Amino acid sequence: MVTASAVRELLGTLIDPDLGQPLTNLGTIHDVHVDGNRVSVYLQVVQPVHWVARRLEHDCIATITANFPQAEVEIFVRETGLPTQQRSKGIAGVKNLVAIASGKGGVGKSTLSANLAAALAQGGATVGLLDADVYGPSQPTMYGLAGTQMRADRSEDGKIIGYPNEAFGVKVASIGFVMERDQAAILRGPMLAGYFSTLVDQIQWGELDFLLFDLPPGTGDIQLTMTQRIPLTGAVVVTTPQEIALADVRRSIQMFRKVNVDVLGIVENMSYFVPPDMPEKRYHIFGEGGGAAVAAEYDVPLLGEVPIDVRIREAGDDGMPFVLDPEAGAHGDAIRSIAAAIVAQVRRKNRSNESSELTIEL
Ligand code: ADP
Repeated sequence: MVTASAVRELLGTLIDPDLGQPLTNLGTIHDVHVDGNRVSVYLQVVQPVHWVARRLEHDCIATITANFPQAEVEIFVRETGLPTQQRSKGIAGVKNLVAIASGKGGVGKSTLSANLAAALAQGGATVGLLDADVYGPSQPTMYGLAGTQMRADRSEDGKIIGYPNEAFGVKVASIGFVMERDQAAILRGPMLAGYFSTLVDQIQWGELDFLLFDLPPGTGDIQLTMTQRIPLTGAVVVTTPQEIALADVRRSIQMFRKVNVDVLGIVENMSYFVPPDMPEKRYHIFGEGGGAAVAAEYDVPLLGEVPIDVRIREAGDDGMPFVLDPEAGAHGDAIRSIAAAIVAQVRRKNRSNESSELTIEL
């Protein structure tokens, strides 16, 4: 016979793969009701991004039916709030602010920002992308929004409110929508920072699980100002594998550490090339293992490796993130797994903030 306590006990030992702890310790199992063979399980999760919730649901059903084949299982997932620490600051309605950074230009930071935002949205998260790359705002092009303007209103107290544009389920705002083309080259730092502040203060995003910031490449004053101006959940640093790029990653990680921003991990782009007619081969054009080495050196995760593929560039130029192409195949999966790794890191970080809050309350 199925009993609530037996079900609780079974589920309690399941491990949340992102957090590496059993559900009992995490307080995930809120309630279990059993009525004959009907089992209703109520779970509570901090930020159940679609695939986190689906994975939990799947694992719970599999475990219960493996032990009680006659059970008819229903799972309800409820979202619990974020730690107050994070709710109180930041951008209204936005749960997690993640910067995508690089020590130097041309490593594919914007391409990955576009693709990671799309992959998160594909996974059921509500996502915004703020293109703050003043030196070359490319998200309007990558999202097929080049030439569009942001809609703006004036609030009752006279403040200007901007609304992001939307494409492929991602809300996109770009400094490119408010700046003249090629203007960045002649603007000085404080003015660029001013543009950024205007974007951060005036855009109304609505409710977002994730807002990704495509930061300008480099580690100068402008990047430092932007990083300090917004309370980031963390930063993801993009690099290519060769040593010359890795020197810049080190500077980038050091910059984030200086301003107490967590580096959620490193993404290595253009890691290898797979010839379309020889899918079993991998050529490491720019060297091998550089991203992993620098990740180990700074004790941060390597979130994943993205191959070099002409379709990734073409998709960017054509205005649709590559990961959304149904033909993207294994390369699309590589990008999706990086998005999932970012979600895992964010969940871990939120969990540790939650625990430290509990400690404070006690
Ligand atoms: P960044 O933002 O770091 O300056 P971009 O995202 O603009 O770099 O990428 C630089 C160029 O490299 C672009 O033309 C882009 O399409 C191309 N690119 C980026 N990543 C890849 C990849 N994995 N495979 C092929 N081309 C890529």
